[in-house]
Amino acid sequence: MNLASNYLFADIAKKVQAFKAENPEADVISLGIGDVTQPLCSAVVEALHKAADEMGQSATFRGYGPERGYDFLRNAIVEHDYRSRGIDIDADEVFVSDGAKSDTGNFQELLGKDNIIAVTDPVYPVYVDSNVMAGRKIVKQPCTAENGFVPELPKEHVDVIYLCYPNNPTGTTLSYKELYRWVEYALQNNALILYDAAYEAYIRHDNVPHSIYEIDGAMECAVEFHSYSKTAGFTGIRCGYTVVPKTLPVPLNQLWSRRQCTKFNGTSYISQRAAEAIYTPEGQQQIRATIGYYMKNASSMKEALRAIGIQVYGGDDAPYLWVRTPYGLSSWQFFERLLTEAHVVCTPGVGFGPSGEGFVRLTAFGQSERTKEALERIKQIF
Ligand SMILES: *Cc1c(COP(=O)(O)O)cnc(C)c1O
Repeated sequence: MNLASNYLFADIAKKVQAFKAENPEADVISLGIGDVTQPLCSAVVEALHKAADEMGQSATFRGYGPERGYDFLRNAIVEHDYRSRGIDIDADEVFVSDGAKSDTGNFQELLGKDNIIAVTDPVYPVYVDSNVMAGRKIVKQPCTAENGFVPELPKEHVDVIYLCYPNNPTGTTLSYKELYRWVEYALQNNALILYDAAYEAYIRHDNVPHSIYEIDGAMECAVEFHSYSKTAGFTGIRCGYTVVPKTLPVPLNQLWSRRQCTKFNGTSYISQRAAEAIYTPEGQQQIRATIGYYMKNASSMKEALRAIGIQVYGGDDAPYLWVRTPYGLSSWQFFERLLTEAHVVCTPGVGFGPSGEGFVRLTAFGQSERTKEALERIKQIF
């Protein structure tokens, strides 16, 4: 077993706590953890209230829901996230979940123990840790400034490939052409792609696919994970969904259904009604406004860092900036300097994998005033 002893964010929290304990007067700003800060939009809040009222009336009370999620939400997903983009999926291919972390972490339970797993490096730790816990071999495809953060195809045979685009942590994307190469690889090598689209709502450029199913052949080789966490501020509400096509060569749709029925009892009715509300015209307009707020942070952060000569990647179609550490500092050295001198928390890139060394991740999820203040402080120390 090669499991890091701590979850990355637990390590960081410990260091920040220690700093705060020694410097109780310091006003620490976090541009570290990937949690949102803006409240739920009013369309969602109204849906929550309405659903809560229904739960308090015997005529409309709901107990356990359908295993794959309520039809009202699965149909809205099919219509708005897929048919509107010309993708034909069936509501039976959609599994509503309590978020993408559990589904991306749990999906490997359907895989053989000897499957070889490919991940990008750096990577969202869940894909690696869940497979290391299961004892599988992992190969890492480096994503560096030199290759434009576009992973190369594996040189050895792999069975399963995790891709996350727009990417956490680098904030970079794959174009249609680049993603097509992976689909082609998977089809030719009989591999399964597990595609995490948690940041799909942040895409602004036309050459970036919103769903892997926009690529021909992906319905035969890919599973896609979505989350309302970053899309609509649901990190505390909990709701997402996973698409498992019935056209995959292995009956994973049936197997995932069987797995979920055994170990999962569904996402709350209230959360599912809240998720449904983001697909209304008001809901769409409101969540776009919040995403716009974060993306404005991203562009002003990027501008401020570039103005002081720091290299920055990502942040155009994702709420993350991948920042090259100046003066050849290591990720953790730069983390320490930002914390102790600017009282700003970042995430050391190396925590996401060896290719993350020499980078830190900054998130655009902060309040805009606080984010500006943090960037001012960083400017002053460099
Ligand atoms: C935030 C995030 C998720 C979503 O997690 P939830 O469990 O839905 O809150 C999934 N994948 C990545 C890469 C993320 O950053």
